[in-house]
Amino acid sequence: MPIYPPEPFRIKMVEPIRLIDREAREKALRQAGFNVFGLRAEDVFIDLLTDSGTGAMSQHQWAALMQGDESYAGARSYFRLEEAVKSIFGFKYFVPTHQGRAAENILSALLVKDGHYIPSNMHFDTTYANIRARGGLPANLVIDEADEPTNRHPFKGNMDIHKLRSFIQEVGSQNIPFGMITITNNAGGGQPVSLENLRAVASTYKEFGIPFIIDACRYAENAYFIKLREPGYSQKTTLEIARQIFALADGATLSAKKDAIVNIGGFLAMNDESLFQRACNELILREGFPTYGGLAGRDLDAMAAGLWEGLDEDYLAYRLRQTAYLAERLLEAGIPIIEPPGGHAVYLDAGRLLPHISQSAFPGQALAVELYREGAIRAVEIGSVMFAHPSPETGVMAYPSLELVRLAIPRRVYTQSHLDYVAETLVKIAARKQEIRGYRFTYAPKLLRHFTARFEPV
Ligand SMILES: *Cc1c(COP(=O)(O)O)cnc(C)c1O
Repeated sequence: MPIYPPEPFRIKMVEPIRLIDREAREKALRQAGFNVFGLRAEDVFIDLLTDSGTGAMSQHQWAALMQGDESYAGARSYFRLEEAVKSIFGFKYFVPTHQGRAAENILSALLVKDGHYIPSNMHFDTTYANIRARGGLPANLVIDEADEPTNRHPFKGNMDIHKLRSFIQEVGSQNIPFGMITITNNAGGGQPVSLENLRAVASTYKEFGIPFIIDACRYAENAYFIKLREPGYSQKTTLEIARQIFALADGATLSAKKDAIVNIGGFLAMNDESLFQRACNELILREGFPTYGGLAGRDLDAMAAGLWEGLDEDYLAYRLRQTAYLAERLLEAGIPIIEPPGGHAVYLDAGRLLPHISQSAFPGQALAVELYREGAIRAVEIGSVMFAHPSPETGVMAYPSLELVRLAIPRRVYTQSHLDYVAETLVKIAARKQEIRGYRFTYAPKLLRHFTARFEPV
């Protein structure tokens, strides 16, 4: 039996949820254009669409909200956030942003020009789109094991150093304004990156004079994976590991809606003073004054508290085990997932579960629809709807290697019985999988199309 750990908290406030009947679910699906982003949240029973901004804040964070200083400039809340950012991440400068993509937007606006290349292990969808929107070309250079769904490599988020080196030599370091890595690798299954790999990536970028920016959304989960899996770190604290990680980089983008367990917030951090000055000017234009960056003072305080709480090791042990529990229940039932499970989510392998649906008919989309139809569970497709695009040279459709559906687990929100319900719903879907058909677009915007596209069954 998979082990489910007792939650290291108890519940002080509850939010009712309800399960609407099958007929109402069918109607809701049709109204949403078979895109789960179009559903009303109150019609969803278990919402695993994202772990972003959906966590439950602690009593400490709620108390911190009340301390918010709403001064326009130089608020106390800002300095409390600055202390957390500097102490954990160690960068000389930072600006708060309203969420992660705002940090990506500012960074891309300042540094990405037409024809530039930005390597990473794998870019998350908003990072990818922000680079593309400035004429840049994002490149994914993750190790090959990341494409092997049952390969239990402990650090499947690692970058392939040989690929990185030949990529830089091929496109020229002068065409790479900065290089990235995403920890944990969300688009590739929430898989961690080892410190050994981070060191090799940092020294490769350094050798070619390329600034190194970390997409740090899940800094704490990645640090705890290092503690659990990488030789030599079991006695280090997650804070010590995080400091070692960020000491390797020149800057970071972060969505605080993930490991900092707040509903809104983020930052862009860097060591370069002139970049910081330009970031402040860009920030004033787009987000707000540099000491609040598009957030209320109280948001800054909740974020400051959350950045510390995210590193709590009792919480992280529970968090990663909760995710592993769901993964193990699904594996016991023969449902294909990406192995080993990542930190924040279980990724269903829709390509393997529904091999009769071709990539052009979106097997992941079909599975996401069935999760709602069968159990009012909401999850997100991470496959061809999100990533397939015609090649700029040939116009031929390029499909991603995996067709996934992500069951993202909000932090401190759902209990074991909720996850058992998810596992049981998937068992029912798998039992009638032959009946499931694919989808086609009836509307699709050019960038980030999964958010607003509409579909019909094939
Ligand atoms: C969520 C996320 C982002 C974007 O952050 P938002 O707060 O949603 O704008 C960027 N990178 C990764 C890896 C993410 O998970």
